[in-house]
Amino acid sequence: MRKKIVAGNWKMNKTFEQGLNLVDEIIQSSAIHQTPEVLKIIIPPFIHLHSVSEKTKHINDIEIGAQNCNNNEAGAFTGEISAAMIASCGAKYVLVGHSERRQYYNETEAILTQKVNHAISKDITPIFCVGENLTERNNNTHLETVKQQLKETVFNLSVTDFSKLIIAYEPVWAIGTGVTATSHQAQGMHNYIRSEINKKFGKETSESISILYGGSCNPENAKELFACIDVDGGLIGGASLKANDFVAIANSF
Ligand code: PEP
Repeated sequence: MRKKIVAGNWKMNKTFEQGLNLVDEIIQSSAIHQTPEVLKIIIPPFIHLHSVSEKTKHINDIEIGAQNCNNNEAGAFTGEISAAMIASCGAKYVLVGHSERRQYYNETEAILTQKVNHAISKDITPIFCVGENLTERNNNTHLETVKQQLKETVFNLSVTDFSKLIIAYEPVWAIGTGVTATSHQAQGMHNYIRSEINKKFGKETSESISILYGGSCNPENAKELFACIDVDGGLIGGASLKANDFVAIANSF
């Protein structure tokens, strides 16, 4: 059975105090505890990691992730945070390849591969994001785009390391736009990704890896998306900033 997962990426939102209040609201919500089989991953800014991890460490179905880590082990990289550092603050997961990082910070496939390797070496699970832009979707080259993104990065891992990943399919045109992929579009891509994993790493790996959908997912559309056979949950941006919405999405399976 693949793990069902709902991960909330707060992006660059919430001051320290606001972040702690949001976590308190989530863990005090009785509804969050209705779905112990669903793993909830809270992905706040770096400054919250340690405190949020302390607050949630006794809750089995809530884990903490970071939004980024540097591609180097350690050293003179002013302003950067390493995989070892986020691990020491309680992060068990890290986003790698989010389209905002690719677009605004020019993160190449080579850099993303280094990040994935560093994270795995520190026992952190990368949530590796892929997804096409609107032009690629309109030109019908979206499958090829996503295949390339995988081929140039995580498809170079050993099968053992690849099996440790979570994949997130996030069409760039759906992120933060209010335009969600239809369940047909999401299922089509998730099935394609799984079939490419099958070709590369075999059936056992492809059947066991969780593939999350991300892009304007909210309490209204989550149920239909999560009902798709190859959609194992969601990576949630905007809607993860409200405790009630995040909890409602986590209860949408
Ligand atoms: C994201 O940034 O990963 C995301 C899915 O954002 P949103 O839910 O706001 O579209």
